[in-house]
Amino acid sequence: MAAPSKGYDITAAYRSLDVRDLHRRGMLKPGLDYGLQWTRHGRVLASVGIATQQDRLTLSYHHTPRDGEPIGHRYPVALDRTPCTYGGARPWFLCPDCGRRVALLYLGRHGRFACRHCLRLNYKCQRESDHDRLIRRAEAIRLRLGWPPGIANAGGGKPGKMQWRTFERLVAEHDRCANAALAVLAGQLERMRARS
Ligand SMILES: [Zn+2]
Repeated sequence: MAAPSKGYDITAAYRSLDVRDLHRRGMLKPGLDYGLQWTRHGRVLASVGIATQQDRLTLSYHHTPRDGEPIGHRYPVALDRTPCTYGGARPWFLCPDCGRRVALLYLGRHGRFACRHCLRLNYKCQRESDHDRLIRRAEAIRLRLGWPPGIANAGGGKPGKMQWRTFERLVAEHDRCANAALAVLAGQLERMRARS
């Protein structure tokens, strides 16, 4: 993170805003209007416009979702201050998504800056909904084929009237969905084991 003239090399996968860093550089003072850029090897990865007021920053930038057109974002991030033991005040961001008092905000895949708690939650929901969607699709195919429900169960034969080509296409899609759902589940178990 830096003033527009200089780049800031980041190694983290996320673009982040650090309230302590901005404070140290005097970039939280009210009435400023500047741009921040994240660069890597001299190439600009992302840039964000920041306008400062007493109790908030207003962020403005474009974010391009995967396989999408750039979307313009503009919203305030409230600032909070807590007194320090030896005088002065320590600044905090209030997460625009949940209002938590945090030092760091990260640019999430949904294109907004949020705290790590919110991003982890979004990520988890995303994964779980993928998982549910895959299972629902596999179960719908099993029903159509007259197979017993449950993706962990073995498949059955071809329904009498169904064409072989249709049957093969459905079996291939069933297997793809079922394997992907099981892979998501295995990943969740892996993470649970890693935490315990
Ligand atoms: Zn949050």
